[in-house]
Amino acid sequence: MSRSSFKLVASISVALIFLVMQSIDHFSAQRDSSSIDLKIDSLLSKMTLREKISLLSGKDGMSTHGIPRLHIPPLEMANGPLGVGGEPATYFGAGISFAATWDTALIRAVGQAVGEEARHYGKNIILGPCVTIQRLPIGGRNFESYSEDPFLSGQMAAAWISGVQSQRIAACVKHFVCNDQEFQRNDVNVVVDERALREIYLRPFRAAIQKAHALTVMAAYNRVNGFYATANHYLLTDILKKEWGFPGFIMSDWDATHSTVGAVLAGLDMEMPGPPHFFGDSLAAAVKDGRVPATVIDEHARRILRVMARLGMLDENAPPTSLPLDTLGHRKLARKVADESIVLLKNQNHLLPLNRAKIKSLALIGPWAEETYLAGGGSSSITPLRSQSVAQAFRKKLDSRIQIIPLKAVTFVQDYPAVQSRFLLPPKEMKGLYGVKGEYFNNLHLKGKPVITRLDSAINFDWGKGSPDKAVQPDRFSARWTGKLTAPKTGFYRLGVKSNDGSRLFVNGKLFVNNWGNHDFQLRSKRIFLEKGKPIAIEVEYFEVGNVASVRLEWKPDEEEAFDPRALTLARQSDAAILCVGLNHQFEGEGLDRASMELPGAQNKLIREVARVQKNTIVLLFGGTPVTMRDWVDSVPVILDAFYPGQEGAAAIADIIFGEVSPSGKLPVTFPKAYEDNPTFPFFPGANDQLEYGEKILVGYRYYDTKNVKPLFPFGFGLSYTHFAYSDLKLSPSILHPGEKLCVQLKLRNTGTVAGDEIVQLFIHDEKFSMPREQKALKGFRRVHLEPGEIRVVSFEIGQKDLAFYDVSGKKWVTEPGWFQVLVGSSSRDIRLKGRFLWEK
Ligand code: BGC
Repeated sequence: MSRSSFKLVASISVALIFLVMQSIDHFSAQRDSSSIDLKIDSLLSKMTLREKISLLSGKDGMSTHGIPRLHIPPLEMANGPLGVGGEPATYFGAGISFAATWDTALIRAVGQAVGEEARHYGKNIILGPCVTIQRLPIGGRNFESYSEDPFLSGQMAAAWISGVQSQRIAACVKHFVCNDQEFQRNDVNVVVDERALREIYLRPFRAAIQKAHALTVMAAYNRVNGFYATANHYLLTDILKKEWGFPGFIMSDWDATHSTVGAVLAGLDMEMPGPPHFFGDSLAAAVKDGRVPATVIDEHARRILRVMARLGMLDENAPPTSLPLDTLGHRKLARKVADESIVLLKNQNHLLPLNRAKIKSLALIGPWAEETYLAGGGSSSITPLRSQSVAQAFRKKLDSRIQIIPLKAVTFVQDYPAVQSRFLLPPKEMKGLYGVKGEYFNNLHLKGKPVITRLDSAINFDWGKGSPDKAVQPDRFSARWTGKLTAPKTGFYRLGVKSNDGSRLFVNGKLFVNNWGNHDFQLRSKRIFLEKGKPIAIEVEYFEVGNVASVRLEWKPDEEEAFDPRALTLARQSDAAILCVGLNHQFEGEGLDRASMELPGAQNKLIREVARVQKNTIVLLFGGTPVTMRDWVDSVPVILDAFYPGQEGAAAIADIIFGEVSPSGKLPVTFPKAYEDNPTFPFFPGANDQLEYGEKILVGYRYYDTKNVKPLFPFGFGLSYTHFAYSDLKLSPSILHPGEKLCVQLKLRNTGTVAGDEIVQLFIHDEKFSMPREQKALKGFRRVHLEPGEIRVVSFEIGQKDLAFYDVSGKKWVTEPGWFQVLVGSSSRDIRLKGRFLWEK
């Protein structure tokens, strides 16, 4: 079968699966309600209070308690959303890669495959998708989530969830809500105005609940407008359960519950993981002394049983949990994600595709040339069923006449030496010659009187699962060290802290390094000038949530980072150089936002220098967040962004570079020229545990377009090996009334010589408004495959809800009568067709 007919068959099968699954979803939804309710009533009537309460928390890290005497099994969970966590599984790519395909049918099929793999491993719930908004370009978990745009995020989430849930596996949409950064994620209070909350942050969750009927939700770590997300009545009960009619259950993020009565009355149904700190015995006591009515327990238990029933877990003939793994079919899907998600950002003089006949040697330079697994770090990491590096994929693809020479060229310093005792001077009252004063607290927030105060010779501790002293509890403690630091030589140093969990370093009373997140042992450092013999005041603060505890104050003289100079000889002697650069779990991940938007280590320098000696330089970027390119964007001819393309990604990259596949991914996030251009810059990371979402509704392209700030690469942008002509825009009717739909049609033609996919994007612009609005907002998109010369009609439907904004004082969605524009284009900054219509009441 030729590649194009294969693609056609694949797309038709995906569409057919989609239709069949939709009807199955519909059927099961109808079957559900009444018989399920009867069954649950009967079960609840047979349960003791203790048994009901046992349902409301985890038993251990990833499962809950069952009630064997009533044939209620435990719920088994696995992390998502890149694939099934904790077991060898297909790595389908990161969330941002899914969104870069803009292909809802494909992402539904991926969700289904994830559901099948979850069933294979006997799981019931997949902890995904992650639908938080990529508002911050250095957000540590952006790679897991979809986009800066709530519509695109919601569509992707809904597609993935319907796929997963078609397998009678519950999706868990997370992290509800405003966990859009990792900074102080356990406590930070996000101050967000109601309109931005409604129009941006809640929208993808709403799509997940109302469009795809997600069965479970995970409440986030952070606080929102003063209340922990796990104890936020407004969010959990008023909006999610009452306003949106969510019938499933809400679990806490891991260790994110902070109270018993507050959380349970706010609407939190389940504390995770187990054994519980706040539910369990404490909840039983709260019911006993009347602080929590027994009916509330019934309501939470009912929601959990309802989800079990929908999954078939309470049926006498429950569907078999295990399925054989369709590894080949899933591999093809993973491959399609990679093919469709890689974004060609620049292709000067049509350097790509490379002509095989003209290439005899190819240099693959950079830290990711021979890496086989690339993703951001944290709980979403998976063990891929297969993996292949870019170098391996190129060798496999090309015959031995073309020489492939990989060179790592850049290594990252992950560790500096600990600051030794002799450079540290404790405060006078400690009466010691060297070291620092250590104060330890049995709470996470350095609150109250320390339980011990002592002289510590250095800040270099690894307590494992233990604790610093018998007076200090092994988990949920904090510490502060104070003293002075004197450098042995005058010069620039890198000074920083590395810890598990969070730490921060103050120099002369000012915050110098912020590492305040719960995460693996990660170093954060900054450059500082120190004079020999002139002490500086230092203070290190630290907290430990759970598991292993360690903290270290580190330094080293600051020398400019260098790359392996052999890279230049290799690049010069080859016919083209592919620079495999970017990020991975060391730089972005759970508990850790990026330190800046710069490429880490000597990568910028490497690109700049290689581009000087090799005119055919291709920058191949990996990572889940934008990077600054000012040093080299104008001097390299090709930039290809692969994000984290999954286990089949390397083969897809090779096919794109040699022209077997025309690139078709489009950016789901704006790439600003510099971090300072991004609207979150003035507000991040905030102060005193408060983080204001000061850009309000102007998130991502909404800001750049409204304020006329030119991005480096706009939202929705991506090049192809072919060209598409847009024509014949038709809108009907020309006057729209409530209840009516506007039909938008246009013609799309492939005017080039190769087949390709275009992603047609539809934005709405409101001409006149009483409240400030964004310049335009995405309301529709279609991925369209066209053979050379082929023309297709593309259509969209627009309704009243697509024109509305949220009126905070009236507490409702409002559409104001007047003229609206339909803007159709190939990106947010490449609008090809415009039309107008009038909205009348
Ligand atoms: C993460 C969740 C994850 C959970 C279980 C938490 O730390 O925030 O996304 O699902 O751990 O591993």
